Amino acid sequence: MGEFRKDALTGNWVVVGVKKLKRQETGVCPFCPGSEHLTPPSIREMRDGQGNWLVRSFPAANPIFQIEASENKRAEGFYDKMGTLGAHEIIVEERSHTKTFATFEAAEISRVIDMYTERILDLKKDKRFKYVQIYKNHGEITGSLIFHPHSHVLATPILPHQLYLELLNSQNHYLQKERCLLCDVVSQEIRQERRVVTASRHFLVVCPFASRMAFEVWIIPRRHNPSFESWMDEDVRREFVEVYIDTMRRIERVRSSYSIVVHTSPNMAACQSGERAPQVSDYFHWHVEILPRTYSQYKREDEFYTVPEMPEEGAAILKIDKTEGGNR
Ligand SMILES: [Zn+2]
Ligand SMILES: [Zn+2]
Ligand SMILES: [Zn+2]
Repeated sequence: MGEFRKDALTGNWVVVGVKKLKRQETGVCPFCPGSEHLTPPSIREMRDGQGNWLVRSFPAANPIFQIEASENKRAEGFYDKMGTLGAHEIIVEERSHTKTFATFEAAEISRVIDMYTERILDLKKDKRFKYVQIYKNHGEITGSLIFHPHSHVLATPILPHQLYLELLNSQNHYLQKERCLLCDVVSQEIRQERRVVTASRHFLVVCPFASRMAFEVWIIPRRHNPSFESWMDEDVRREFVEVYIDTMRRIERVRSSYSIVVHTSPNMAACQSGERAPQVSDYFHWHVEILPRTYSQYKREDEFYTVPEMPEEGAAILKIDKTEGGNR
């Protein structure tokens, strides 16, 4: 069983000691219809009139985190560590093995968005989870081993580092200006126009000012809204589906591998803020980040470093001196 460890210098949590089980190579895609027995049973399925699933979610067969693990926060000297409590689920987005987001119909993307929304809302009911992260790695160079269209859902008792930094910067901006940082980004990008890919009534698609990857794009709602999962307006949701497909068509024109991550507000029930501190809902603004990949820019965007070996084992291996004369 692995554990979460906090890096004392950066504050970043990592997972160490999670041994990957070797998946049995059967030559059969475990996510295709007819192979359901190769995956754990569904948590939730959306079905057609004949009872066939269209989108399904189930616990990952090889999870990074376990729902039955205990949080068990403890210290080792002044280092912090805890059990790998969390949830790791897979969402199979489509029956078709070969479709990509660019070729999805509006109704198909719409079901995926519904499933994301449902899983976030359900997992946020568990007050042990500070965050629910949705991400997707598409293409071999992102580290995705199964081509069949699917996403990951991670629920964790800690905030992913990237999100923590976004929250911190958004809070600082709010404390100084009493405005939401991403709302300011939206107004400036619309004013400058230079990085805007598309702009619709409710959404802005931009290449961020400090893009990490070529063709990186963010989809940002133009009106302030902290949570991806709080769709109050049907029109906005419908427009998001259109914008999402349109954006993925543009991305797949230039890159065949990409990572997608949904950044929504943390689980408010699990994160106490002081009475006088600004509220997360005031300063955090949801968005989707799409990071196209090439070999030279490979980096997984699941935002957790997971290391199969324990650092203690690594040190033991490196400690052995194999230079001439053997151990000294
Ligand atoms: Zn398949
Ligand atoms: Zn905002
Ligand atoms: Zn973000």
